[in-house]
Amino acid sequence: MTDIAPSKPAPNPSLSLQGISRHYGDVQALNDISFDLAEGEILCLLGASGCGKSTLLRLIAGIEDPDRGEIRLAGQLVSDQSAHVEPEARGIGFMFQDYALFPHLSVADNVAFGLKGWSRAETRARVSEMLDMAGISALADRFPHMLSGGESQRVALARALAPRPGLLLMDEPFSNLDQGLRATVRAETLSLLHQMRVGTIIVTHDPQEALAVADRIVLIRDGRIEAMGTPRGLYNDPPTAYTARFLGPGTGLPGRIQNGNLVTPLGQFAAPGLQDGQSAEAFFRPQALSLCAADQGGYPARVLRREFLGAQDRLTLALEDTADTDCSGIKVQLDLPAASVDQATASQQVDHLGLRLDPAAVHIFATGPQPEAAKS
Ligand code: ADP
Ligand code: MG
Repeated sequence: MTDIAPSKPAPNPSLSLQGISRHYGDVQALNDISFDLAEGEILCLLGASGCGKSTLLRLIAGIEDPDRGEIRLAGQLVSDQSAHVEPEARGIGFMFQDYALFPHLSVADNVAFGLKGWSRAETRARVSEMLDMAGISALADRFPHMLSGGESQRVALARALAPRPGLLLMDEPFSNLDQGLRATVRAETLSLLHQMRVGTIIVTHDPQEALAVADRIVLIRDGRIEAMGTPRGLYNDPPTAYTARFLGPGTGLPGRIQNGNLVTPLGQFAAPGLQDGQSAEAFFRPQALSLCAADQGGYPARVLRREFLGAQDRLTLALEDTADTDCSGIKVQLDLPAASVDQATASQQVDHLGLRLDPAAVHIFATGPQPEAAKS
């Protein structure tokens, strides 16, 4: 792939959404969505199936209109109660989940399709530039049925980017690819998007994918924004329990606030801002746990399962009841190099270990209503 300077100035609109809502019958598909997209930014719209991601893409593209709210591209109003700029006039590239290549057109003609109003010479030069950048020059004369999944994805991407859109929308762009191919195609796609400095919204339900590709993640839950931030920020410092669990595995230890601390079997944790008597949980990721001997201050745990994952082993442990704690039913999982597990289990009773929890990696979330005494 080569980096070729654009021969036409890109309009480069950034996107601004303000209070976007949309319903279908009784279903409130989107509710008061507001965020901006910076120039060249890659934003992942992440959320469970049915949360409203595709609906939001259709509204931005102009295929449908919001019930309420405003959409601006590069400062220009394109959708509100009175304005509607047609999809073709928005300067937006759209890549569909199934790629939607035209079966009767060659790869080159597919890529040329969006270049309306370009001269033949300009079109030929642009198509050849895009095929080169996407690494598919050798496929120019093939038809879609002669392409692999990865090749089809590249053609769809080249077609969407050829007209130099100011904004690119991609709906689950990697979900039709084999697991083995996905990481490679993802990396190539990102490199092309960065080269072209095109602002992009990628829709996905896969948290791993969002963490890997996004500059910023917008997490949607039932049509509303649940959380927004950088991948590292949201993963390491999740603002809500839902965000914490959506982005990766973890355990929540239930407890109650006493003297400003959440008291749990694995320790006490400062809970600023929560009232005494409030029920809450201490949430942590598997990597916040370490193994030690139960008689070295670690909390006693019993090994339920040890699974071989390849690079690491996964231990599933049950916390054990002690004289002052009831841990019935609380399980934790952690992945460790096999050698570390062998070392820990060899030095102790085989199926009994001690657990330590790094207090800096614990997040406290309220789990119930505020206690009566705290309400005024
Ligand atoms: P996602 O892409 O996150 O899976 P969608 O945006 O497709 O979610 O759908 C959000 C909600 O709106 C769902 O409950 C879906 O059933 C509903 N919905 C989407 N499009 C339509 C439509 N054209 N008619 C009726 N309901 C729709
Ligand atoms: Mg969808």
